[in-house]
Amino acid sequence: MSKIKVKFPDGSVKEFEEGITSLEIAKSISMRLANEVLAASVNGEVWDLTRPIKSDVSIVLHKWDDPEAKHTFWHSSAHLMAEALESLYPGIKFGIGPSIENGFYYDVEPKEGIVITESDLPKIENKMADLAGQKEHYERKEVSKSDALKYFEKKGDEYKLELIEGLEDGKITFYTQGNFTDLCRGPHLPDTSPIKAIKLLSIAGAYWRGDEHNKQLTRIYGITFPKKKMLDDYLIMLEEAKKRDHRKLGKDLELFTFSSKVGQGLPLWLPKGTILRNRLEEFLKSVQVKYGYEQVITPHIGQKELYVTSGHYEKYGRDSFQPIHTPVEGEEFLLKPMNCPHHCEIYKSKPRSYKDLPLRYAEFGTVYRYEQSGELHGLTRVRGFTQDDAHIFCRPDQLKDEFIKVIDIILLIFEALDFKDFTTQISLRDPNDKSKYIGSDENWEKAEKAIIDATEEKGIYTIIEYGEAAFYGPKLDFMVKDALGRKWQLGTIQVDYNLPDRFELEYVGSDNQRHRPIMIHRAPFGSMERFVAVLIEHTAGEFPLWLSPRQVVVIPVSEKFNDYAESIFNNLKDKNILAELDNRNEKIGYKIRDWEIHKVPYMIIVGEKEELAGNISVRKHKKGDLGSLSLSDFIDNIMNEISEKNSKTN
Ligand SMILES: [Zn+2]
Ligand SMILES: [Zn+2]
Repeated sequence: MSKIKVKFPDGSVKEFEEGITSLEIAKSISMRLANEVLAASVNGEVWDLTRPIKSDVSIVLHKWDDPEAKHTFWHSSAHLMAEALESLYPGIKFGIGPSIENGFYYDVEPKEGIVITESDLPKIENKMADLAGQKEHYERKEVSKSDALKYFEKKGDEYKLELIEGLEDGKITFYTQGNFTDLCRGPHLPDTSPIKAIKLLSIAGAYWRGDEHNKQLTRIYGITFPKKKMLDDYLIMLEEAKKRDHRKLGKDLELFTFSSKVGQGLPLWLPKGTILRNRLEEFLKSVQVKYGYEQVITPHIGQKELYVTSGHYEKYGRDSFQPIHTPVEGEEFLLKPMNCPHHCEIYKSKPRSYKDLPLRYAEFGTVYRYEQSGELHGLTRVRGFTQDDAHIFCRPDQLKDEFIKVIDIILLIFEALDFKDFTTQISLRDPNDKSKYIGSDENWEKAEKAIIDATEEKGIYTIIEYGEAAFYGPKLDFMVKDALGRKWQLGTIQVDYNLPDRFELEYVGSDNQRHRPIMIHRAPFGSMERFVAVLIEHTAGEFPLWLSPRQVVVIPVSEKFNDYAESIFNNLKDKNILAELDNRNEKIGYKIRDWEIHKVPYMIIVGEKEELAGNISVRKHKKGDLGSLSLSDFIDNIMNEISEKNSKTN
C-alpha cells in the first residue's frame, strides 16, 4: 500500500496509508477528538468522515461549532426524518431535504388522502429517536444514472426521478441508512447515534421547486442536537426571539407599518419610529462630521446610462424594477439601486488634485431593489431602504489610514449602541485564480496589505477568507452577536477599483500626471431599516434613553390631578424631553401595565400626596417604583442619562 501526505490547518504534514478515512485520522490524534468530530473538509470540500482518502490532501476536522459540522449533522437528520416518515407513512414521496441555517427540512408528499399535521410531529420525533438509537450507518454508494432512475422508478417517486434527470452520469451517489435510501451528494455523519435531541418545529406548504404551477408539497421543519441541553437552550432562545421579533415589537411600539395599498416591502415609518430613526441619523451625522465627511444629497432615480456605466444595469437591470419612461422625451430612468454612481459624478463635478484627497461623501441615500414577495421579511428584507452610505475617494498611500478611520467609526457605533460581541472577516482574492478580478496585481496586494495592517493596528481579531473578495476589491465585514447570540452582518468596508475605472475618475498627482483614485464604500449600519430591526431584537425594544421615542409618560392617579400632571408634562416638554400625558379615563393599574408593554423608560405618577408636596413619584421600566423626587432632580437625572451616550462617543 502506498502512502499519502495529509496536511493539517497548522501547516504540519503527516503520512498515512492510502485509503485512510478522516475518522481514522482523528483517532490517530486522540480518541476524544474522534468522538467529537462530525465532518471533515478535504481539499476544501466537506466529506463523510468514513470516506477513504486516496491522494495527498489538506484536511480540516470539524467539530460541532463549525458550520460544516452543523450542516452535516442537520442534513443527516433530514435523512433520519425521511426514514421515520417512510416507516410511518408507507408510499410517501420525497422532494428535497436540505440543512438550513438552524436545522433542516424535508419536502414530502404523503399518499393520496393522508395529511400530516402538527399533531403528528411528536409521533415522528419518537420514531426518529428510535432509529437514531439503533446506530444506523450512513452508507455512501456511487450509482450509474440508469441504475438510479431504475431504483426510483420502482419506488414510484417522480420527484427524485426529476432530480436525477438533471444530474450528470458518473456523479450520482446514494446514501442508505437502515431501510431508507436517498439520492444525495452528502456529506453525512458516520451513523445516527450522535443525534441525541430532536425537535420537529413546524409544517408548511411548499411548491415543488418553488414554482407555484407545481404541486404543493408538505414541508416539515426540524432541528437536532448532540446534547439535550443544547436543544433546551435553543427552544428557550426561540421563545425569546418570538417575543423580540421586530415585526411584533414594531407594531406594539408603533414604530413602523406596511400597507398593501402602498405596496409590499415598502415600510412606512410611523411618528415614533421616525423619531428613533432620526436620532440614529443625527448620531451618525455627528460622528461623520468629526471624521471629515461631507453630506451630499442625490436623487432617487438616475438615467439608465448612468447605471450602464456603473455596471449596475447589468446586475440589477433585467431582474429588478423596470425603467421609468418620460412621456415626451423618451428618456429612461431607473430607481436608484445604489448611491455610488451618483457620488462618482459628484467627484467628477470638478478637477481634483492629490491635495484634495481624501474626499468623503456621505448620504442617507434611499435605494430600491426588487425582492420576490416570498423573500420579503419585516424591515430586514424590503424593496426600498435607506443606506447610511458614504464613499471615500483617496490615493493609494491613504488607503490604510482611511481604513483605520472607518474601523474607528464602526467600533464607536458598536460601543454606543451596546453591541459588545462582534467578529470580523477580511475577504481577499483567490490566490489560485487571479483572472476573475479586475485591477492590477500591485493594487490588490497594496489594498489587501492595507486592510490586514489596519485591522492589526486596531487590534481586532479577524478571520481571513481567500476567494471571498468581490471581483472589484477586497473588503472587511463586521458581524455582531445580539443579546440572544444570533449573528447579524452589520458594517462593510469595501475597496473598489472598478467604479473609478468605469467613471474614469482622476486626480492630478504631485508628479503632475493623471492618476485614478481608489474608492471605499462603507455603511456601518448597512441600512437604517435593517439596523433598526437588529436594534429592536437586540434590545427587545428597550432602547437606551437617548434613542427612546417615548422617554417619560405622566400619569395622574385620577381626573382630579389632571392639571398638576399637565403642568409636569409641560415642564418636561420645555426641556425637550419626549414626554406624553396619559389622562385617559382608565384605572391607574391598567395604565401602568399598558405603558410597561410599550416599554416606556419612565413613568411619573402624581396624585394628592405629590401635588401637596409639589413633587412626583417615579417608576422605571422593569425596575418598578423609585419613590418620590422633585421634578428638577428627576430632570437632572434623566438629562445625565441621555448624555451618557455622548460621553461614550466623544
Ligand atoms: Zn443527504
Ligand atoms: Zn457604494
